[in-house]
Amino acid sequence: MASWTYVDGEWLSGNPLLLGPMSHAMWQASLVFDGARAFEGTTPDLDRHCARVVASARALGLGPMLTPGEVEDIAREGLGHFTKDAALYIRPMFWAEGGFLGGAPETTRFALSVYDLPMPSADGFSAGLSSYRRPSPETAPTDAKAACHYPNSGRAMAELKARGFDNAVLLDPLGHVAEFASANLFLVKDGVVVTPEPNGTFLNGITRQRVVRLLRQAGVEVQERVVTVQELLAADEIFATGNLGKVQPITRYEQRELGPGPLFQRARELYWAFAHNAL
Ligand code: PMP
Repeated sequence: MASWTYVDGEWLSGNPLLLGPMSHAMWQASLVFDGARAFEGTTPDLDRHCARVVASARALGLGPMLTPGEVEDIAREGLGHFTKDAALYIRPMFWAEGGFLGGAPETTRFALSVYDLPMPSADGFSAGLSSYRRPSPETAPTDAKAACHYPNSGRAMAELKARGFDNAVLLDPLGHVAEFASANLFLVKDGVVVTPEPNGTFLNGITRQRVVRLLRQAGVEVQERVVTVQELLAADEIFATGNLGKVQPITRYEQRELGPGPLFQRARELYWAFAHNAL
């Protein structure tokens, strides 16, 4: 894997060491990040991913010293280390360097890595229901794409891998369907696309918002509302959206085999057409 990281005004190759044992982020997880893709010469919604990482930093009480536009300029500079149509992952990060337990984070640092990462399989993945839930907004900074949320997603994923699935569906604190461990969730029933309405317990993904808009513009009915566990079990199609896998079909949910269905195909075609015009 080739990787380049921007830190303190220069680009370093490989995996430079940036945290020490005294760094606040290392022992208190005061780090936010975002992930955007560059592939086939396109960078869909890169501006929105750069804006979100700055917003996530503010949500955690960090002091982001860059504007979204400056983060985007650094990201585009990083793409210059690779060939034009390489499949890349762009990961900006802000973290607290100084500060103590119970106190506000003091010095904030920034780094941005660009590395080559093949596009995930277009075949999709299987999923089952996790016993772990998303945290409520009163107990965690759920409006930030923060590193501290991911060990919970990781243990949900591990739980379902142990049951033979690829990914996990997590419920919100009220027991309604929230999202996958690593992506947002859509289902299709009787020709209508349904996706959980963002309620502050899971990420309102940038790819999710884009797919909702594209489907509606194409005349497809999309409902954003409460989704129950029972509805998911009875869905005609289930698909996932996220910056990494883009739009992926769910091939099996619990005991039900599902194929890539027609509305998933439509969503993927619309997203791909959008992505290739978003240079
Ligand atoms: N939920 C979680 C937990 C995620 O990690 C991601 C990937 N960032 C998403 C949803 C999808 O968000 P986006 O489309 O903004 O990448």
